Amino acid sequence: MGTSVFPKGNWWAGNKKFEENLILFFLVNGYGDLLLKEMHGGETLLQFKVGNGDRIKFRKDPWCSEVSLEEAFPLLFQISVNQDSSIAENFIASGDSIIWTPLCRRSLFDWEVEEYAAPLGLLQNHMVDLSLEDEWNWKWNADGCFSVKSMVLNLYCPGQEDFLARQIWNSSSPSKINFLVWTMALDKCLTRVNLERRGIQILDLSCGLCGTLAESIEHLCIHCPISSYVWGHFLKALEISWVMPNSMKELLNCWRIEGLSKKGKLVWNSIPAAVLWSIWTERNNRIFCCKAKSPDEIVQRAVVLDDIVV
Ligand SMILES: [Zn+2]
Repeated sequence: MGTSVFPKGNWWAGNKKFEENLILFFLVNGYGDLLLKEMHGGETLLQFKVGNGDRIKFRKDPWCSEVSLEEAFPLLFQISVNQDSSIAENFIASGDSIIWTPLCRRSLFDWEVEEYAAPLGLLQNHMVDLSLEDEWNWKWNADGCFSVKSMVLNLYCPGQEDFLARQIWNSSSPSKINFLVWTMALDKCLTRVNLERRGIQILDLSCGLCGTLAESIEHLCIHCPISSYVWGHFLKALEISWVMPNSMKELLNCWRIEGLSKKGKLVWNSIPAAVLWSIWTERNNRIFCCKAKSPDEIVQRAVVLDDIVV
Protein backbone atom coordinates (compact mmCIF):
# COMPACT_ATOMS: atom_id res chain seq x y z
CA MET A 1 0.00 0.00 0.00
CA GLY A 2 1.30 3.48 -0.76
CA THR A 3 1.78 5.81 2.15
CA SER A 4 -0.10 8.67 0.52
CA VAL A 5 -3.43 7.69 2.05
CA PHE A 6 -2.26 8.34 5.60
CA PRO A 7 -2.29 11.71 7.28
CA LYS A 8 1.12 13.24 7.72
CA GLY A 9 2.74 15.43 10.32
CA ASN A 10 1.05 17.14 13.21
CA TRP A 11 -2.57 16.13 12.85
CA TRP A 12 -4.18 18.53 15.35
CA ALA A 13 -3.79 21.74 13.41
CA GLY A 14 -5.08 25.11 14.49
CA ASN A 15 -6.00 26.08 10.95
CA LYS A 16 -8.41 23.18 10.52
CA LYS A 17 -12.02 23.05 11.60
CA PHE A 18 -12.78 21.05 14.71
CA GLU A 19 -14.50 18.28 12.74
CA GLU A 20 -11.49 17.92 10.44
CA ASN A 21 -9.22 17.48 13.44
CA LEU A 22 -11.68 15.02 14.93
CA ILE A 23 -11.61 12.84 11.81
CA LEU A 24 -7.82 12.97 11.81
CA PHE A 25 -7.89 11.86 15.43
CA PHE A 26 -9.92 8.78 14.45
CA LEU A 27 -7.59 7.99 11.57
CA VAL A 28 -4.35 8.47 13.46
CA ASN A 29 -5.58 6.32 16.30
CA GLY A 30 -6.49 3.43 14.04
CA TYR A 31 -10.25 3.96 13.95
CA GLY A 32 -10.38 4.80 10.24
CA ASP A 33 -12.17 1.60 9.24
CA LEU A 34 -14.71 2.04 12.01
CA LEU A 35 -15.31 5.64 11.06
CA LEU A 36 -15.92 4.82 7.41
CA LYS A 37 -18.09 1.82 8.21
CA GLU A 38 -20.25 3.88 10.55
CA MET A 39 -20.45 6.94 8.37
CA HIS A 40 -20.28 5.69 4.83
CA GLY A 41 -21.98 2.32 4.79
CA GLY A 42 -18.73 0.38 4.70
CA GLU A 43 -17.94 1.45 1.11
CA THR A 44 -14.27 1.14 0.29
CA LEU A 45 -12.79 4.54 -0.44
CA LEU A 46 -9.55 3.28 -1.92
CA GLN A 47 -9.02 2.19 -5.49
CA PHE A 48 -6.21 0.15 -6.93
CA LYS A 49 -3.72 1.56 -9.41
CA VAL A 50 -2.04 -1.37 -11.09
CA GLY A 51 1.71 -1.21 -11.58
CA ASN A 52 3.60 -4.47 -11.94
CA GLY A 53 0.77 -6.46 -10.36
CA ASP A 54 2.86 -7.90 -7.53
CA ARG A 55 0.72 -6.70 -4.63
CA ILE A 56 -2.84 -6.86 -5.91
CA LYS A 57 -4.80 -10.10 -5.83
CA PHE A 58 -5.97 -11.06 -9.30
CA ARG A 59 -9.29 -12.60 -8.29
CA LYS A 60 -10.07 -11.11 -4.90
CA ASP A 61 -9.28 -7.37 -5.24
CA PRO A 62 -11.58 -5.04 -7.23
CA TRP A 63 -8.85 -3.70 -9.53
CA CYS A 64 -10.40 -3.86 -13.02
CA SER A 65 -14.01 -2.98 -12.16
CA GLU A 66 -16.11 -1.95 -9.17
CA VAL A 67 -16.21 -5.55 -7.95
CA SER A 68 -13.60 -8.30 -7.82
CA LEU A 69 -13.32 -10.99 -10.50
CA GLU A 70 -14.37 -13.46 -7.81
CA GLU A 71 -17.72 -11.68 -7.49
CA ALA A 72 -18.16 -10.92 -11.17
CA PHE A 73 -17.13 -14.35 -12.48
CA PRO A 74 -17.59 -17.01 -9.81
CA LEU A 75 -16.73 -19.86 -12.20
CA LEU A 76 -13.27 -18.45 -12.87
CA PHE A 77 -12.72 -18.30 -9.14
CA GLN A 78 -14.01 -21.77 -8.33
CA ILE A 79 -11.86 -23.61 -10.82
CA SER A 80 -8.73 -21.45 -10.62
CA VAL A 81 -5.44 -23.00 -9.60
CA ASN A 82 -4.47 -20.42 -7.01
CA GLN A 83 -7.34 -18.31 -5.74
CA ASP A 84 -5.02 -15.95 -3.85
CA SER A 85 -2.60 -15.35 -6.70
CA SER A 86 -1.46 -11.85 -7.60
CA ILE A 87 -2.07 -10.14 -10.93
CA ALA A 88 1.59 -10.72 -11.81
CA GLU A 89 1.07 -14.49 -11.58
CA ASN A 90 -1.69 -14.35 -14.19
CA PHE A 91 -0.04 -12.82 -17.22
CA ILE A 92 3.01 -13.15 -19.45
CA ALA A 93 4.70 -10.04 -20.83
CA SER A 94 5.45 -10.23 -24.52
CA GLY A 95 7.16 -7.13 -25.87
CA ASP A 96 4.79 -4.19 -25.38
CA SER A 97 1.77 -6.38 -24.80
CA ILE A 98 0.71 -8.88 -22.17
CA ILE A 99 -1.11 -12.17 -22.45
CA TRP A 100 -3.51 -13.09 -19.66
CA THR A 101 -3.04 -16.66 -18.50
CA PRO A 102 -5.32 -17.50 -15.56
CA LEU A 103 -4.90 -21.25 -15.03
CA CYS A 104 -7.65 -23.75 -14.26
CA ARG A 105 -7.48 -26.86 -12.09
CA ARG A 106 -9.20 -28.93 -14.75
CA SER A 107 -10.34 -28.87 -18.36
CA LEU A 108 -13.41 -26.81 -19.06
CA PHE A 109 -16.73 -28.31 -19.99
CA ASP A 110 -18.21 -27.00 -23.21
CA TRP A 111 -20.83 -24.99 -21.34
CA GLU A 112 -18.14 -23.31 -19.23
CA VAL A 113 -16.00 -22.00 -22.10
CA GLU A 114 -18.10 -18.89 -22.75
CA GLU A 115 -18.12 -17.86 -19.10
CA TYR A 116 -14.39 -18.41 -18.81
CA ALA A 117 -13.73 -16.28 -21.89
CA ALA A 118 -15.82 -13.30 -20.65
CA PRO A 119 -13.33 -11.95 -18.06
CA LEU A 120 -10.46 -12.34 -20.53
CA GLY A 121 -12.27 -9.90 -22.83
CA LEU A 122 -12.58 -7.43 -19.94
CA LEU A 123 -8.89 -7.76 -19.10
CA GLN A 124 -7.76 -6.86 -22.62
CA ASN A 125 -8.46 -3.21 -21.77
CA HIS A 126 -6.20 -3.27 -18.73
CA MET A 127 -2.49 -2.83 -18.93
CA VAL A 128 0.23 -3.30 -16.37
CA ASP A 129 3.36 -1.21 -16.02
CA LEU A 130 6.27 -3.36 -14.96
CA SER A 131 8.33 -0.30 -14.01
CA LEU A 132 5.90 0.82 -11.29
CA GLU A 133 4.71 -0.64 -8.00
CA ASP A 134 1.04 -1.24 -7.29
CA GLU A 135 -0.66 1.56 -5.34
CA TRP A 136 -3.85 2.35 -3.53
CA ASN A 137 -5.41 5.68 -4.39
CA TRP A 138 -7.86 7.76 -2.37
CA LYS A 139 -11.13 7.94 -4.35
CA TRP A 140 -12.26 11.34 -3.16
CA ASN A 141 -9.32 13.32 -4.55
CA ALA A 142 -8.47 13.56 -8.22
CA ASP A 143 -4.75 13.16 -7.48
CA GLY A 144 -5.40 9.99 -5.47
CA CYS A 145 -3.92 11.42 -2.26
CA PHE A 146 -5.79 11.45 1.02
CA SER A 147 -6.88 14.79 2.44
CA VAL A 148 -9.06 15.43 5.45
CA LYS A 149 -10.86 18.15 3.50
CA SER A 150 -12.03 15.66 0.86
CA MET A 151 -13.22 13.32 3.57
CA VAL A 152 -15.17 16.03 5.38
CA LEU A 153 -16.74 17.28 2.14
CA ASN A 154 -17.92 13.80 1.20
CA LEU A 155 -19.03 12.64 4.61
CA TYR A 156 -21.02 15.78 5.18
CA CYS A 157 -22.79 15.73 1.84
CA PRO A 158 -26.37 17.00 1.52
CA GLY A 159 -28.95 14.36 2.27
CA GLN A 160 -27.05 12.77 5.11
CA GLU A 161 -29.43 14.36 7.58
CA ASP A 162 -28.97 11.59 10.13
CA PHE A 163 -25.52 12.81 10.96
CA LEU A 164 -26.82 16.31 11.73
CA ALA A 165 -23.68 17.87 10.34
CA ARG A 166 -25.21 21.20 9.45
CA GLN A 167 -27.20 21.58 12.62
CA ILE A 168 -24.28 20.79 14.90
CA TRP A 169 -20.92 21.41 13.30
CA ASN A 170 -21.80 24.49 11.28
CA SER A 171 -23.17 26.21 14.33
CA SER A 172 -21.38 29.31 15.56
CA SER A 173 -21.08 27.80 19.03
CA PRO A 174 -17.71 26.91 20.58
CA SER A 175 -16.34 23.50 19.64
CA LYS A 176 -16.69 22.04 23.14
CA ILE A 177 -20.41 22.86 23.09
CA ASN A 178 -20.82 21.40 19.60
CA PHE A 179 -19.11 18.26 20.78
CA LEU A 180 -21.50 17.96 23.73
CA VAL A 181 -24.52 18.41 21.44
CA TRP A 182 -23.09 15.83 19.06
CA THR A 183 -22.73 13.24 21.82
CA MET A 184 -26.27 14.03 22.96
CA ALA A 185 -27.65 13.63 19.42
CA LEU A 186 -25.97 10.22 19.15
CA ASP A 187 -27.18 9.25 22.65
CA LYS A 188 -23.56 8.81 23.76
CA CYS A 189 -23.59 11.50 26.44
CA LEU A 190 -22.90 10.02 29.87
CA THR A 191 -26.24 10.36 31.60
CA ARG A 192 -26.96 7.93 34.42
CA VAL A 193 -28.95 5.64 32.10
CA ASN A 194 -26.11 5.58 29.56
CA LEU A 195 -23.53 4.92 32.29
CA GLU A 196 -25.55 1.92 33.42
CA ARG A 197 -25.76 0.68 29.81
CA ARG A 198 -21.97 0.71 29.76
CA GLY A 199 -21.87 -1.62 32.75
CA ILE A 200 -21.20 0.96 35.45
CA GLN A 201 -23.18 0.29 38.59
CA ILE A 202 -25.42 3.26 39.35
CA LEU A 203 -27.48 3.09 42.53
CA ASP A 204 -29.72 6.00 41.67
CA LEU A 205 -30.78 6.39 38.05
CA SER A 206 -33.02 9.36 38.70
CA CYS A 207 -32.64 12.61 36.79
CA GLY A 208 -30.00 14.99 38.16
CA LEU A 209 -32.37 17.92 37.69
CA CYS A 210 -35.82 16.84 38.85
CA GLY A 211 -34.90 13.65 40.73
CA THR A 212 -37.99 11.77 39.52
CA LEU A 213 -37.73 9.78 36.26
CA ALA A 214 -34.67 7.91 34.95
CA GLU A 215 -31.99 10.17 33.53
CA SER A 216 -32.06 9.28 29.83
CA ILE A 217 -30.90 11.80 27.24
CA GLU A 218 -34.47 12.41 26.12
CA HIS A 219 -35.72 13.00 29.63
CA LEU A 220 -32.82 15.17 30.76
CA CYS A 221 -32.63 17.31 27.64
CA ILE A 222 -36.22 17.49 26.46
CA HIS A 223 -38.93 16.23 28.80
CA CYS A 224 -37.63 16.99 32.29
CA PRO A 225 -39.90 19.72 33.76
CA ILE A 226 -36.88 21.97 34.39
CA SER A 227 -35.55 21.51 30.84
CA SER A 228 -39.04 22.07 29.41
CA TYR A 229 -39.17 25.35 31.32
CA VAL A 230 -35.90 26.48 29.74
CA TRP A 231 -36.97 25.54 26.19
CA GLY A 232 -40.36 27.15 26.87
CA HIS A 233 -38.75 30.45 27.78
CA PHE A 234 -37.10 30.79 24.37
CA LEU A 235 -40.16 29.64 22.44
CA LYS A 236 -42.39 32.02 24.36
CA ALA A 237 -39.99 34.93 23.89
CA LEU A 238 -40.01 34.31 20.13
CA GLU A 239 -43.80 33.74 20.15
CA ILE A 240 -43.47 30.30 18.61
CA SER A 241 -45.81 27.36 19.24
CA TRP A 242 -43.81 24.19 19.31
CA VAL A 243 -44.44 20.56 20.20
CA MET A 244 -41.21 19.11 21.53
CA PRO A 245 -40.22 15.92 19.66
CA ASN A 246 -39.30 12.66 21.35
CA SER A 247 -35.63 12.40 20.52
CA MET A 248 -32.61 14.64 20.33
CA LYS A 249 -32.07 13.79 16.66
CA GLU A 250 -35.62 14.83 15.83
CA LEU A 251 -35.30 17.98 17.85
CA LEU A 252 -32.11 19.07 16.12
CA ASN A 253 -33.40 18.01 12.70
CA CYS A 254 -36.62 20.00 12.94
CA TRP A 255 -35.13 23.07 14.63
CA ARG A 256 -35.75 25.24 11.58
CA ILE A 257 -37.81 28.32 11.02
CA GLU A 258 -38.49 30.42 7.95
CA GLY A 259 -38.72 34.17 7.56
CA LEU A 260 -36.07 35.27 10.04
CA SER A 261 -33.48 37.95 9.41
CA LYS A 262 -29.84 36.91 9.18
CA LYS A 263 -29.25 37.91 12.78
CA GLY A 264 -32.51 36.23 13.87
CA LYS A 265 -31.47 33.03 12.14
CA LEU A 266 -28.13 33.04 13.93
CA VAL A 267 -29.85 33.46 17.29
CA TRP A 268 -32.41 30.77 16.48
CA ASN A 269 -29.80 28.26 15.28
CA SER A 270 -27.66 28.67 18.35
CA ILE A 271 -30.51 28.23 20.87
CA PRO A 272 -30.27 24.40 21.08
CA ALA A 273 -26.54 24.49 21.83
CA ALA A 274 -26.99 27.22 24.47
CA VAL A 275 -29.94 25.48 26.15
CA LEU A 276 -28.33 22.04 26.13
CA TRP A 277 -25.04 23.37 27.49
CA SER A 278 -26.88 25.20 30.27
CA ILE A 279 -28.92 22.09 31.16
CA TRP A 280 -25.84 19.86 31.20
CA THR A 281 -23.85 22.35 33.27
CA GLU A 282 -26.70 22.58 35.79
CA ARG A 283 -27.04 18.81 35.97
CA ASN A 284 -23.30 18.43 36.67
CA ASN A 285 -23.28 21.22 39.27
CA ARG A 286 -26.17 19.61 41.11
CA ILE A 287 -24.63 16.12 41.06
CA PHE A 288 -20.94 16.91 41.62
CA CYS A 289 -20.93 20.29 43.41
CA CYS A 290 -24.27 20.15 45.27
CA LYS A 291 -25.07 23.59 43.82
CA ALA A 292 -28.48 24.23 42.31
CA LYS A 293 -29.72 27.23 40.37
CA SER A 294 -33.36 28.10 39.91
CA PRO A 295 -35.01 27.42 36.52
CA ASP A 296 -34.89 31.16 35.76
CA GLU A 297 -31.15 31.24 36.48
CA ILE A 298 -30.66 28.26 34.15
CA VAL A 299 -32.56 30.19 31.49
CA GLN A 300 -30.39 33.23 32.14
CA ARG A 301 -27.21 31.20 31.66
CA ALA A 302 -28.54 29.96 28.31
CA VAL A 303 -29.54 33.50 27.29
CA VAL A 304 -26.07 34.82 28.08
CA LEU A 305 -24.50 31.93 26.20
CA ASP A 306 -26.77 32.45 23.20
CA ASP A 307 -25.73 36.12 23.14
CA ILE A 308 -22.07 35.16 23.28
CA VAL A 309 -22.18 32.63 20.50
CA VAL A 310 -23.88 34.85 17.92
ZN1 LIG B 1 -35.78 15.43 35.22
